Amino acid sequence: MSDWPKKINLWLECIGCNRRFPVSGIRYRCSCGSLLEARRDLSLYNGASLLKTWEDRWGMKNGPLASGVWRYKELVIDLGDDDIITKLEGNTRLYPAGKAGEYAGLDNFLLKHEGENPTGSFKDRGMTCGMTAAKMYGAKSVACASTGNTSASMAAYASLCGMKALIFIPSGKIAFGKLAQALAYGGTTFQVDGNFDDAMRLVQEVCSEMGIYLLNSINPFRLEGQKAICFEILQQLNWQVPDWFVLPGGNLGNNSALSKALMELHELGIIRKIPRIAVIQARGANPLYRMWKTGSEFRPVKNPETIATAIKIGNPVSWEKSMNGIRWSNGVVEEVSEQEIMDAKAMVDAAGIGAEPASCCTVAGARKLVKKKIIPKDASVVGILTGNMLKDPDSIIAYHTGKLPVKSKIVGRFANRPVKVAADIEVIKKMLGDSFRNR
Ligand SMILES: *Cc1c(COP(=O)(O)O)cnc(C)c1O
Repeated sequence: MSDWPKKINLWLECIGCNRRFPVSGIRYRCSCGSLLEARRDLSLYNGASLLKTWEDRWGMKNGPLASGVWRYKELVIDLGDDDIITKLEGNTRLYPAGKAGEYAGLDNFLLKHEGENPTGSFKDRGMTCGMTAAKMYGAKSVACASTGNTSASMAAYASLCGMKALIFIPSGKIAFGKLAQALAYGGTTFQVDGNFDDAMRLVQEVCSEMGIYLLNSINPFRLEGQKAICFEILQQLNWQVPDWFVLPGGNLGNNSALSKALMELHELGIIRKIPRIAVIQARGANPLYRMWKTGSEFRPVKNPETIATAIKIGNPVSWEKSMNGIRWSNGVVEEVSEQEIMDAKAMVDAAGIGAEPASCCTVAGARKLVKKKIIPKDASVVGILTGNMLKDPDSIIAYHTGKLPVKSKIVGRFANRPVKVAADIEVIKKMLGDSFRNR
């Protein structure tokens, strides 16, 4: 049973052999095994009139088109308002990087805070589309494997529209805030005895055996929604294209969505310049970086390990889409150490912006690329912060109180320790001296 409009300008196309499938049938992979992507006939649109439509929708006060995803629905999924399941995601801020910019060594650095989405990560942008597609297919239940944010998001959207959510998370560490959300929003949560890659394999099997709709980033509609990060940044910049985009890479869906968005805008003539994309991986979960660096075949990393749990993925599903986009944009892949991630995080947090560890790969990576003179100091750079600071309070407290596990070898270089004091004004005055006095 499918409710898709008969005439929709959208189909699923294999990224390997270019075989096309109608959007009305559920499919995640081509018969050749490659991933599918959602495609549309762009020649049916006029760039200038799309721009005008999007400008007219900017600042809408209510309804699905007030969403920072569905504002761009022509290049997302072109459906009527009643078909759209939305929490009015997006509309996130683009901050001057402040102290984090100084730390990175950049004069012109903006941070797009996707942690300001309804459930605290950019995953909401993809989920609103994935869930809308689930509804179009008549699904009553949905499932995902997750390092945390996808499950938090999926559980919220499923509850919103009365679907059942089945969640597979790795047994090891998933950040506390994310697990809390999955449970609170009412998702059925299975802690799988294994890592994320095991959970990912399992969920695909379960979904295919039981006909549950799969909402991992293998799902082609999720990437369509994530493209809106790019559309929204460019609209915030009055369609002036920056020199670089920098973002973390885990399962590699987000950077694939970014390059797809840019390709489509370029094809439509909405942008002329092609910015370069830098994907940053954690050193302990760096299969794309290894492939990039050595020019070898793609090889999964067996036991991925990093404090940035959102990107603790050894066998990313979208590596091929990702690599195509990086090559198209003349981009780069970089890796950062645990220490670099947490120091950059301390800077992003102390700048008054704040983000979870995985997000801060963006700043750590930008700094490294500036040092290597790959990104010029005066380049215009937009970094994407993918998740909210409060997703992972444990890592913050551990960093600032010197309680990080010894084996992580991370030292709290910019630690801001809490101070124990007696409840006595004289003690406090003595400790502060004149440092806090305004008069
Ligand atoms: C999912 C996620 C990532 C990784 O994005 P991919 O699309 O899997 O590369 C990075 N940061 C946060 C906070 C995430 O939730």
